[in-house]
Amino acid sequence: MSVLSDETPAQTSIQSATSGDAAVKISGPGNDSPALQQSKGLDPAAATQAWLDSVPRDKREKSDAYFEGGYWLLLWNYLVAAGISILLLSSRISAWLRDFSERLTRYRTLRVAWYSIAYLLLVYVLSFPLNVYEHFVREHQYGLATQSFPAWFREQLIGLGITLIGSTIVLIVLYAVFRRAPKMWWIWGTGVAVVFSFVLVFIAPVFIEPLFNTYKPLTKPEVSEPILAMARANQIPVKQVFEVDASRQTTRISANVSGILGTTRIALNDNLLKQCTIPEIREVMAHEMGHYVLNHGAKLLTYLGIFVLVGFALTRILFDAAVRRWGDKWGVRGIADPAGLPLLALIFSTLLFLATPFLNTVVRVTEREADAFGINAAREPEAMAKVALKLGAYRKLNPNPLEEFIFYDHPSGRARIRMAMDWKAANLSAGDGSKSEPQNRKQTED
Ligand SMILES: [Zn+2]
Repeated sequence: MSVLSDETPAQTSIQSATSGDAAVKISGPGNDSPALQQSKGLDPAAATQAWLDSVPRDKREKSDAYFEGGYWLLLWNYLVAAGISILLLSSRISAWLRDFSERLTRYRTLRVAWYSIAYLLLVYVLSFPLNVYEHFVREHQYGLATQSFPAWFREQLIGLGITLIGSTIVLIVLYAVFRRAPKMWWIWGTGVAVVFSFVLVFIAPVFIEPLFNTYKPLTKPEVSEPILAMARANQIPVKQVFEVDASRQTTRISANVSGILGTTRIALNDNLLKQCTIPEIREVMAHEMGHYVLNHGAKLLTYLGIFVLVGFALTRILFDAAVRRWGDKWGVRGIADPAGLPLLALIFSTLLFLATPFLNTVVRVTEREADAFGINAAREPEAMAKVALKLGAYRKLNPNPLEEFIFYDHPSGRARIRMAMDWKAANLSAGDGSKSEPQNRKQTED
């Protein structure tokens, strides 16, 4: 957590830290401090500040505005979702949809399926204006999107199709649980949520991601070889690294690990490939390998299970209380009644909204672990700092600690650069065994 503490403004000696880099040339206000002249040690705080100061003000203001706009979108998305739920309940549209499904068929599973599809479509349509603003208009305003509206909308429809199929299956199973265990559904329901999340993560690289992008093995040996060497050094059984054509949708640089068990795949996007040097690519890929080696997929699924269990337990209490009070008015009979789905969504999205800082922190901590793994595997502190600045195109570089706690699902640029500079200042040797005395080693072993 030391990264979150603010650096003292007095420390502004920009040292050999960033020698040879553009960042060194831009110095802070304490530039004329005598400490600067010939000190050998690197001051990580000052070096971090020097990197941050190297970003032109207009660029910084733009990415700050983009990222801070995201804070408000979090609120707007919640309000829109809550508003839709309340509308469907209080207007009795939800009850009407349920009644209609009961007239259509006597099979409960089909009733749930019919209700689910109608509900999901209604929610999609009602939240469409905000969706267009957030994911199309705003992305273009900030120069982050590359798609025309028809291309974007086509992908929206594919996504909607996947959501309709996947969510309907999940809801059919969940409502079967609600009918059989109206009191204990929150425990069984958590099991269902975890199993489906696992399946989703497992099949995503094989069945879902190819619907949006093309993944192909990275062929350039000058890029793939250094990456594969790192993989071998860290016991990662990959034969190839993948390149994904993310430039179809966005100008962002990124890489990812997806899948679990047999479907795990490490891929870097083509923007990264175009905009970054080999050391920077190594640094990013080392971070992704960190996710793999540290088993983050399984860990995050476990945390998810805990969050869902607590969330469902609270949802059960709140749902029953709401039905006792407003059930007649809304035409909702109980947990096993599909007409109560908007109420479930309202309660769960409220809990999710309130839990935002905790969920972000859980993810950010694993990201920080991957960063720590990455810097040790790639040993490229300069490159790590440069990548952090490039990611600063869409993530505010220097938030205050509270902001970072609430809104950041990755460490901020400042935190990442500070980690790189701390690593560099520690000046670790490459582990040349010939330098250590055998006698000393014996002593430490005792
Ligand atoms: Zn990551």
